[in-house]
Amino acid sequence: MAYPDLYLMIDGQRLSGGGRRTHKVVNPATGAPLADLPLANAADLDAALAAAQRGFRRWRDSTAHDRAAVLQGAARLMVERQEELARIATLEQGKTLAEARAEVMMNVGLFNFYAGEVFRLYGRTLVRPAGQRSMVTKEPVGPVAAFAPWNFPIGNPGRKLGAPIAAGCSVILKAAEETPASALAVLQCLIDAGLPGDVAQAVFGVPDEVSRHLLASPIIRKMSFTGSTPVGKHLAKLAAEDCKRTTMELGGHGPVLVFADADIDKALDTLVAGKYRNAGQVCVSPTRFVVESDVYEPFLKGFIDRAGRIAVGDGLDPASIMGPMANPRRLDAMDRLIGEAAAKGATLEMGGRRIGNTGYYFAPTILSNVPLDAAIMNEEPFGPVALINRHADEAAMIAEANRLPYGLAAYVWTADGARQRRIARELEAGMVGVNTGMIGGSDSPFGGVKWSGHGAEDGPEGIEACLITKAIHEG
Ligand code: NAD
Repeated sequence: MAYPDLYLMIDGQRLSGGGRRTHKVVNPATGAPLADLPLANAADLDAALAAAQRGFRRWRDSTAHDRAAVLQGAARLMVERQEELARIATLEQGKTLAEARAEVMMNVGLFNFYAGEVFRLYGRTLVRPAGQRSMVTKEPVGPVAAFAPWNFPIGNPGRKLGAPIAAGCSVILKAAEETPASALAVLQCLIDAGLPGDVAQAVFGVPDEVSRHLLASPIIRKMSFTGSTPVGKHLAKLAAEDCKRTTMELGGHGPVLVFADADIDKALDTLVAGKYRNAGQVCVSPTRFVVESDVYEPFLKGFIDRAGRIAVGDGLDPASIMGPMANPRRLDAMDRLIGEAAAKGATLEMGGRRIGNTGYYFAPTILSNVPLDAAIMNEEPFGPVALINRHADEAAMIAEANRLPYGLAAYVWTADGARQRRIARELEAGMVGVNTGMIGGSDSPFGGVKWSGHGAEDGPEGIEACLITKAIHEG
């Protein structure tokens, strides 16, 4: 299958050429260029804003049935187009086809869940004397500007589009310039299912230019961002200038507390697969392994054994378990973070190097005895590296888990029921996995606390984040 042509999707029109600047999209498995992506200019963004205003007035009056029909129709089309979507995602992002197919189905589940939730956007009436009436209603917040990163090229755009559409908002999506074709393919499913072209649009550009332009406009009433904490803080400040609502899904540094009483084989099978999924470029990736002393040696050995069996290669090759990293920035970050940790005294148990001269491959890596002042213990590595340290007891393990300002996903492995509940309560995180790596689902809120952001996507909470509450009192 050939990689598709790229365009801006503004007011239902595919726009390209016209003297616009371009960005070269590259296949991370080979480093070869795939296509030129047109970048929006100021006039394009103004056209998108005007259409979003019109689209909002239209879509806020749509029936629950209209919205559900679009979401369900798009879900059906995504199932039909699963292979095509998955191949596009693998070509431009690098992940394996198996992971890309699963990502499509995750999005199908979310659209179907939201289609059901649309019928449950209830308000309420209050107790009042005869002749008076007071109501609390839910209304769509208004046009949304949404920024999606490259690590889940289908799932991130799906989340950013699905919730506003379910809530009755219009949305301008700026997906990552590295993975535009996946985002356009998701949007096309919605449009083919009947969504008007002014309700959901896709622009690409110089990220800072686009976000400043859209967030300066009073038309936009909500910003939704997924990406790094530094960019999130910058965008939150821009949104605050106009008191816009925000949903911020930022970075993490997932702690994993492993106690000696845990089922260590099950923990290792789950954690090694989770660590190297998408070459570690996952915000909820298990990263800091906080292991109780008694089980430290067998845990480390089991981790090394399993990680050593991971086949790294082109995501299109069915034999590959882990694909390349998505871009050369991540390779540079791995070299810097691993090199600095080793210089500070960490033990490099395996990996720690690039693979080959073509494509952006990096070996599955394990560091142990990592000093707490190493940058990698404080900065989200966002790569295929596990940090495994020994700890004396539960109190020290909880302190390490909560040491960082991040609070996205945290995991605990223990057979002790009382400890499971105690630790789940103590962990400062938006999502906690107890003896599992599965911490999401279309019906479950996905989001963090502290520097990992605020608000949630998925679940009823994802739609709620696109609604405002209005109290109406009749005398
Ligand atoms: P980055 O911080 O430059 O960009 C992160 C994302 O934000 C990208 O999609 C980018 O296009 C977008 N972005 C950057 N500047 C922007 C701006 N001014 N306005 C709007 N969007 C903007 O980093 P990167 O090199 O692309 O990714 C590296 C880091 O980003 C990782 O280390 C990780 O911490 C974080 N990240 C997090 C997630 C997540 O799921 N939370 C996803 C991707 C990247």
